[in-house]
Amino acid sequence: MKIRVLGCYGSRVPGRFTSSLLIDQALLLDAGTIASSLTLEEQVQIDDILLTHAHLDHIVDLAFLADNVMSQRTTPIRIWGAQPVLAALRQHLFNDYIWPDFTKISTRGVPIVSLNSLPESGTIEIGGYTVSFAPTNHTVYTVGYCLSAKSGSLFYSGDTSTTAAIWAMAENCSELKIAFIETSFPDRFERLAQISGHLTPALLKVELEKFGERDVPIKIFHMKPQFLEELQTELAALHDPRIQVLNGGEIFEF
Ligand SMILES: [Zn+2]
Ligand SMILES: [Zn+2]
Repeated sequence: MKIRVLGCYGSRVPGRFTSSLLIDQALLLDAGTIASSLTLEEQVQIDDILLTHAHLDHIVDLAFLADNVMSQRTTPIRIWGAQPVLAALRQHLFNDYIWPDFTKISTRGVPIVSLNSLPESGTIEIGGYTVSFAPTNHTVYTVGYCLSAKSGSLFYSGDTSTTAAIWAMAENCSELKIAFIETSFPDRFERLAQISGHLTPALLKVELEKFGERDVPIKIFHMKPQFLEELQTELAALHDPRIQVLNGGEIFEF
């Protein structure tokens, strides 16, 4: 599995982009950054997109991806999400008002995108990967993912505050090789973090007790860029050698 960090921040400033991971060539985890990081040739190869939730910083580039590749797709781009997430996309994005309804537009006899619901079972095969998911504690319905291939698994927390189900899922994530965990605000904004469904370094420390002592690299994402230095200092002060704050553009492979 090759993982490319297209974006890893909770907002945008020049050179820092919103959350999205490219897995190998054809699958994306979240869609906060596609069009500004991938070439057109790379964008055409995206077949499946797993969404954690419908907040703008995780879906915004669905709009530009659909537009960019519409003349070249021979199959729809499959967008995967929980029912409330897909309902929000239908109602608020692909609604022929904010953006064209790319679930209906077809250039080669097939729609540009298709919206696909995650099953109630909590596990599904997508694009050759085994995908497990569990709800997080955020302000809108959100899931975290465990994505498994033959070579090992990746854990992606999604946006979350203090929670339980995703940590139970992580425990069953076999041959876990890497974990992406959100931390958005510095400790002095703990109250804001809690009401907006996010973590601070101090809250992360408590969550990592649920993650356990597993010897897995922990990549921190979803930092609010205006607090980046403060977050780096506070995360370093946790003295957890597994923790690395992402910058964007990294490639990991296992
Ligand atoms: Zn977010
Ligand atoms: Zn969010």
